[in-house]
Amino acid sequence: MLAIQGLTKIFPAPAGEVVALRDIRLEIGPGRLVTFIGPSGCGKSTLLKIAAGLDASYEGSITLDGRPIEGPSVEKGVIFQEPRLFPWWTVEKNIAANASLRDAAVRRRVGELIELVRLKGFEKAYPSELSGGMAQRVAIARALLRRPKVLLLDEPFGALDAFTRAHMQEVLLDIWQSDRTTMLFVTHDLDEAVFLGQQVVIMNPRPGHIRRVVSVDLPYPRQRTGAPFQEIRGVVLREFEKVEEAPVPDPGAGI
Ligand code: ADP
Ligand code: MG
Repeated sequence: MLAIQGLTKIFPAPAGEVVALRDIRLEIGPGRLVTFIGPSGCGKSTLLKIAAGLDASYEGSITLDGRPIEGPSVEKGVIFQEPRLFPWWTVEKNIAANASLRDAAVRRRVGELIELVRLKGFEKAYPSELSGGMAQRVAIARALLRRPKVLLLDEPFGALDAFTRAHMQEVLLDIWQSDRTTMLFVTHDLDEAVFLGQQVVIMNPRPGHIRRVVSVDLPYPRQRTGAPFQEIRGVVLREFEKVEEAPVPDPGAGI
């Protein structure tokens, strides 16, 4: 269980301070897939970095299975918009990263992950030989190597074209359905948020906070064209439009 209580994050800034997150409260049970959506600057990345243990200066509390999150650990896998692979390493080496491929257990796990992210046959390929979607699948496999309790994804498909993105969403659901890793998935794509999440957390900027949590009680695979999907999408869209209307300019946005 990932439990967030009264989480507030303030960045110092020349023109006063930026309240990136204010009083976030959220509980995410094991095995849940929760999506976060909101305009740029509403604190999505800040929240994920704190959950990943990459930023330990905050007020309030955030715990994973009862233990405060204070730094990075193998319990938390992180995936960013860019895959951040090592160009001089093969696919399998990128997935193994610091673990040795000479170790049979590591080799077995890497093989399993290569199947899971549908990269069979590309074990020895280098990142320059991969498409954007394939490279991001390597990054996902690498993040899963040590079977993290939570996977934190910050707009992981944001740089991909629409076709690849739709394929990646299916791959991600496959992964989630096969190992039920808890996932926090940040996106600014409304369709993606509703297609993937069991809950969609809608965030507001200035200061970043949770505006509403919408439950998506639809079985997978979801039919985007179906009436139930469109209905929930409409609920999120209307809420999102209200968010976008917030008129105050934010001089610190876009970092
Ligand atoms: P999002 O990912 O939703 O676009 P961020 O979490 O990146 O939003 O940023 C939230 C707010 O915090 C923004 O106003 C941003 O300018 C500010 N911010 C983010 N990182 C820093 C930083 N390192 N220093 C100062 N301000 C920051
Ligand atoms: Mg961001």
